[in-house]
Amino acid sequence: MSEKKKINLNRIDMPKQPPHIRRRNFKEVALGYTAELAIQEARRCLQCKKPFCVQGCPVEIDIPGFIKCIAEKDFAGAIAVLKEKTCLPAVCGRVCPQEEQCEKLCVLNKKDAAVAVGRLERFAAQWEAEQKNIQIPKKHTPTGKKVAVVGSGPAGITVAGDLILLGHDVTMYEALHEAGGVLTYGIPEFRLPTAIVRREIDYLQKLGVKLITNFVVGKTKSLDQLLENYDAVFIGTGAGLPWFMNIPGENLNGVYSANEYLTRMNLMGGFKYPKSNTPIKKHKNIAVVGGGNVAMDCARTGLRLGADKSYIIYRRSRKELPARLEEVENAEEENVIFHFLTLPVRLIGDENGWLKEIECLRMKLGEPDQSGRRRPVPIEGSEFKIPMDACVVAIGNSPNPIIPDTTPDLEAGKWGNIVADENTGKTSKDRVWAGGDIVTGAATVILAMGAGRKAARSMQEYLIGEKLTAQQTQ
Ligand code: FAD
Repeated sequence: MSEKKKINLNRIDMPKQPPHIRRRNFKEVALGYTAELAIQEARRCLQCKKPFCVQGCPVEIDIPGFIKCIAEKDFAGAIAVLKEKTCLPAVCGRVCPQEEQCEKLCVLNKKDAAVAVGRLERFAAQWEAEQKNIQIPKKHTPTGKKVAVVGSGPAGITVAGDLILLGHDVTMYEALHEAGGVLTYGIPEFRLPTAIVRREIDYLQKLGVKLITNFVVGKTKSLDQLLENYDAVFIGTGAGLPWFMNIPGENLNGVYSANEYLTRMNLMGGFKYPKSNTPIKKHKNIAVVGGGNVAMDCARTGLRLGADKSYIIYRRSRKELPARLEEVENAEEENVIFHFLTLPVRLIGDENGWLKEIECLRMKLGEPDQSGRRRPVPIEGSEFKIPMDACVVAIGNSPNPIIPDTTPDLEAGKWGNIVADENTGKTSKDRVWAGGDIVTGAATVILAMGAGRKAARSMQEYLIGEKLTAQQTQ
């Protein structure tokens, strides 16, 4: 192999803040490609005739197409290709699990490392954001139909964005005081700056979407009351009901759900206190229970808040961690300490009701369970205690229950999810569609967007009686 080819095979690193600096600030960790680096990386793409990467993308982005544009320095072309299929490239370029999707199927994996699809997507979105004249696409003539979108996360954003362009009158209802769903209240600033999500919401509003915040459907007004004023309703209310471990001591001071911890930080700006109104206690030693992206976000947030030590307690081994590998590596670089094969069994408090210690059991891995991962089995008599003044429980979430609980004729599944058709998002209730985490349980941004797009197509068919091709809802 020639020397030149060898260089082309090496994936271009993306600059990052050094670990010892970033572990104490909330600025974005990854700094993104410069134009020069992006072009170099894009030129690694082999432009396969049969691009497997596209098969790995839940919204079927023309990946070789946008990468070719970058390689040819046509950045406007790249963003245009991306926007044919995704309305949130700046978000997806940062948080999508590409290593499990498009990049996993890249043929270059066999030789060296996959083309950095996510980093290139992020670059194209960043380039667009830096242009002062973002184009507002032409909308269809008004149809006179009114649509309510409940929830302003990626599922709701996608439905609202698609239907407004098709000429419908769209209003988005959000329970919190800021729109964006998990992108705003959950994923920390150092991974996804709030300004990026705000930009996307502003864009929707520029397109004409009306946003009503502090409005809890099911409390402020019922779903049936909304239906009196709208022709169709989409529910994208997500999975924000935290699970707990149900072990003694979970009510002690210093024990948080991941939702509370991250919401205090991201939505309420706890890290800016006293400039913000919501304080958050600075703990010395913080343990986060769980192994997903949420757990990594909490452990890294703890360090940035000034903890001396931040731990992950996970009952399986490193290999089974469900978090994105990139985020696990980032956490390791920042000196998050991992206790693998460890299960908390009791939280122990001091005389004032504050957490003092966590009692854990050591585990070993047994036979695979239904998820295909080896089941953790407790080792008898292996109890040990770790001194700790905070514990964040990040072991999962259930779908938000308010709408299913207050709408008797809306079919719900056994996990509290709304039952909806996989291909259309149609629910059991007339004129109501649903998609994203409220249907699937906690999943990913891109899957929520994919569900939103399918629902928008089906809603259009209902509203106008017109069947759309995949190309037309973009
Ligand atoms: P959400 O984003 O949850 O949005 C639902 C919205 O509905 C919320 O704003 C909520 O306030 C609102 N709502 C709820 N009930 C009502 C009501 N009754 N009335 C009005 N509004 C209501 N995915 C990835 O792909 N990559 C990652 O790196 C990643 N990291 C994550 C990190 C964290 C900390 C968390 C919590 C999740 C992460 N995820 C990640 C998962 C991803 O964010 C979700 O799968 C995705 O946001 C789901 O989108 P959604 O639109 O279905 O719901």
